Amino acid sequence: MVSEDELGARLKAYEGRPAAVAGAGKDPVNLPMIRHWCEAMGDTNPVYEGPDAIAPPTMLQAWTMGGLTGHTGRSQAYDDLLGLLDEAGCTSVVATDCEQEYVLVLRPGDEITFDTVIESVSERKTTRLGTGYFVTTRTEIRVGPGQDLAGTHRFRILKYAPAGGGRKQRGETAERQPARRPRPVVNRDNAGFWEGVEHHRLLIQRCTACRTLRFPWLPGCNRCGAPDWDTVEASGEGTVYSYVVMHHPPFPAFDPPYAVALIELTEGVRMISNVIGTPYDKVRIGLPVRLEFQSYDDDLVLPVFRAREEVA
Ligand code: ZN
Repeated sequence: MVSEDELGARLKAYEGRPAAVAGAGKDPVNLPMIRHWCEAMGDTNPVYEGPDAIAPPTMLQAWTMGGLTGHTGRSQAYDDLLGLLDEAGCTSVVATDCEQEYVLVLRPGDEITFDTVIESVSERKTTRLGTGYFVTTRTEIRVGPGQDLAGTHRFRILKYAPAGGGRKQRGETAERQPARRPRPVVNRDNAGFWEGVEHHRLLIQRCTACRTLRFPWLPGCNRCGAPDWDTVEASGEGTVYSYVVMHHPPFPAFDPPYAVALIELTEGVRMISNVIGTPYDKVRIGLPVRLEFQSYDDDLVLPVFRAREEVA
């Protein structure tokens, strides 16, 4: 068994090495895969249909996937890196997040090639799942004979040794710390929203071209496609548009059953939140609610809603 420092150094040495070289898409961009994707996503945008269809940008990774038999071009370095982590006891894996950039529009018939590099291996980290290392790869997806950059796909996994030798049963309390609510994932598309929350302001994005409000925050306008936006501050008044009651599965820091509500703000947009102060079985569609900012721990404040009048 190598020491922690030695292992860290050996892992770092993989940064910059290739994970896939000259990979090729198993199929060219094609309408059947686009149709299946749109059906699965419930995306009915007409630009993905018909003779002039384009591929949904978010399908970027789909064109590089190798299926059950894998793809050619996978490098030994990536397998060696994962093997090293396995040997160190980090035998579990979970995908944590992905970032994509879209450069060119892909259309049926386009042939895809790609290269993937091991971008970074983190320091040793301890998470609720266990202790291990985040491994980030970055894939450049190219198109056509000129191999023009169509987009990039950054993918992060955690390879870890499970905490406590496996999943704890509920009710098993031994020296457990109180669970903390999950942190929001803040990225460049929604950073302004979370900045607003920090200042106890609920900000709705507004397209500066057609004035359409949008929530959750997105990089462009769903109505006219314009990228420019400003914000309006929500009044905080709304109603429960719909809700579900969560019984299972149990999540740390949540105490089921509890109601998760889709709140329709008076401005017209809807957001998912919690209704606090009302028993889960008293939450109703149409219930008038008002915004509050609830502090959950030292660095987590979330917008939540409370019934405007006591619910009988
Ligand atoms: Zn617009």
